Amino acid sequence: MRRRILFTVEKNRVLVPVGQPCPFGCRYCYTRGGEVGLSRVNTTDILSHFQRFAEETPFETIQFGYDGDPFADPERGITMLRQLAMMGKNVNFSTKARLENSALAALCEIRSQMESTDTTLSALVSLSCWDSAAIVEPHTPSPYERIVTARNLKKIAIPVFIAVRPVLPHISDDEYERIADEGINAGCDGFILGPLYSDARGQFVRFIPPAALAAVRSKKSVVSWSAHSPTWTRYEDPDRLQKLLHMIERKGGRTFLSSADAVALAHQRQEVVA
Ligand code: SF4
Repeated sequence: MRRRILFTVEKNRVLVPVGQPCPFGCRYCYTRGGEVGLSRVNTTDILSHFQRFAEETPFETIQFGYDGDPFADPERGITMLRQLAMMGKNVNFSTKARLENSALAALCEIRSQMESTDTTLSALVSLSCWDSAAIVEPHTPSPYERIVTARNLKKIAIPVFIAVRPVLPHISDDEYERIADEGINAGCDGFILGPLYSDARGQFVRFIPPAALAAVRSKKSVVSWSAHSPTWTRYEDPDRLQKLLHMIERKGGRTFLSSADAVALAHQRQEVVA
């Protein structure tokens, strides 16, 4: 078991799994092939193994939730976050869940505890399309609900970044404009754009019209951010990426190509305020 719970430091951060299959079922989800770790691991195994890793390895940020959504099961997410928050690191979590009431109250408490130890809690709220969500993310909280989450997190002073990843080749720029407008209106702190990945079987990209996919530049390589080092094909159109970055910046949004940079900014801002 322990062999499959792996951690690695990349850009001063370490990814920590949720350890539970995600029920949201986004069609581009790369966790389905099992290449980024076991699909079911209990929280004690993850946290005890991670604690040992953190004691022996220098890094600054914990990124929670690359193998699933920490708040698909809010009780589990909060339980794990409470423990991660006590490790003296900045903590970032990513979610597509609608966060309200008790989960929000718990996050507010965790944020304030972390602030007292000069560490920062920040969030990534993921949006890859708007009008097409019912087809691309049929069992996932709607884009509107995710914007509610972003607003709610901002109300309790948690920095929020909109993760626009993967950028999908067949989704029109209009949908990305809508995401930019909604994110900026919600007060988000920036947007992180990222590529689409496919495994050797092509199962994460099967829903994309083949002609649209074929038109995008692709490269097969080892995925650097995963401790499990899968070899996947990365799809990214550099011209479209630049166009989307400029569109967001024109509207007044800050842009990033890595969540590590976004989290670092959130922490610097907190240090300035303190
Ligand atoms: S929310 Fe994330 S982990 Fe869950 S199905 Fe969607 S992409 Fe996969």
